[in-house]
Amino acid sequence: MNDEKKYGFTTTILHSDRQKPIEHGSLHKPIHTSVAFGYRDARELAAVFQGRQPGYRYGRQGNPTVAALEDKINRMEQGNATICFSTGMAAIGAVVQALVREGDHIVSSAFLFGNTNSLWQTVNVQGADVSMVDATDVRNVEAALTAATRIVFVETIANPRTQVADLARIGQLCRERGILYIVDNTMTSPYLFQPKAVGASLVINALTKSIGGHGNALGGSVTDTGLYDWNRYPHIVESYKRYPVAQWGIAQIRAKGLRDFGASLGPEAAHHLAVGAETMALRVERECANALALAQMLDADERVAAVYYPGLASHPQHEISRELFRAFGGLLSFELKDGIDCFDYLNRLRVAIPASNLGDTRTLVIPVAHTIFYEMGAERRASMGIAESLIRVSVGIEDTEDLLEDFGQALGE
Ligand SMILES: *Cc1c(COP(=O)(O)O)cnc(C)c1O
Repeated sequence: MNDEKKYGFTTTILHSDRQKPIEHGSLHKPIHTSVAFGYRDARELAAVFQGRQPGYRYGRQGNPTVAALEDKINRMEQGNATICFSTGMAAIGAVVQALVREGDHIVSSAFLFGNTNSLWQTVNVQGADVSMVDATDVRNVEAALTAATRIVFVETIANPRTQVADLARIGQLCRERGILYIVDNTMTSPYLFQPKAVGASLVINALTKSIGGHGNALGGSVTDTGLYDWNRYPHIVESYKRYPVAQWGIAQIRAKGLRDFGASLGPEAAHHLAVGAETMALRVERECANALALAQMLDADERVAAVYYPGLASHPQHEISRELFRAFGGLLSFELKDGIDCFDYLNRLRVAIPASNLGDTRTLVIPVAHTIFYEMGAERRASMGIAESLIRVSVGIEDTEDLLEDFGQALGE
């Protein structure tokens, strides 16, 4: 495989490790557990520290197994550079730690992963302002901008109600205003969508979800797409300006986020995630097909009050989703009609498992208001359109008939 030719998504990921020599012809990048990296010539160690020579120094800042995964994610997102973190939240937290200062303003989608929502509250307490807006319409984002706005943050498909942000128009707006546009791509995965196509500056992925895909390792990543002109960002520390402008942002996120913040991905987890990544496209295709079939079945059942899935023609952002995404994702949610208790329903399922994760090979279900969105309280839940009976389904790769049969039988005769 030569790096010049363009290969398909899966071919590229499967063969990415081999683009650099691997010890003993190993087909997997080995798990390098060493924390420190030694040099015969002490001058070389100094050169690595000073950024004059590539190399590893200490595990918190970089590790060869993790670097191989960073390269994979970077290829998936067609980025300039990618950094991995211990979790998806660590990736988002590191960006905030590295780039946001007191007095800054962030505009964020109000339809948000619960823990990111909670992170914005922390950011607020620490002196930066966060405006939460309905990002399905760019006009709401534009109306919220102030002279202090540094960042616009959105997710692709929001969990659990599946609202889709006005991704392309927000990208256009941020480009015009020189604002850093951060897109959390976790719910679509780089197989279904590459946020670079809509002008994203930084792309977040929770590797824990579709990329790792087996619910056996946590991880997160930040990719710089190369589209943002870091000259326009006011908080770049002088010492990172010795690099070419295109690297300023990622250098600061690596130093502040990884070195100072310390949320580094371990090599064993990186190995699990890299193995998972090899089959992502196959898994995600199956999950999307299963999710569409399940959404259509539930939608047609009169005992179900509402189904939220971008693949349904009735979904408000169905057309935008068709334009932007390869398929509609593996996440759906639904409300049962009054009279069917959501806990009783979940307890009747035999295949789907009540558990809190997404993008697993197994189908997982969760009563949203009583678990992941419990802490935020009824008022904020209502403002996010989350009914007390809402059930979120992270659709797995089981055989389609088995899933349909399971969700059907749990509705009763
Ligand atoms: C899960 C998730 C995260 C956080 O990832 P962790 O690895 O669990 O920290 C961030 N954003 C979205 C959209 C997620 O689904």
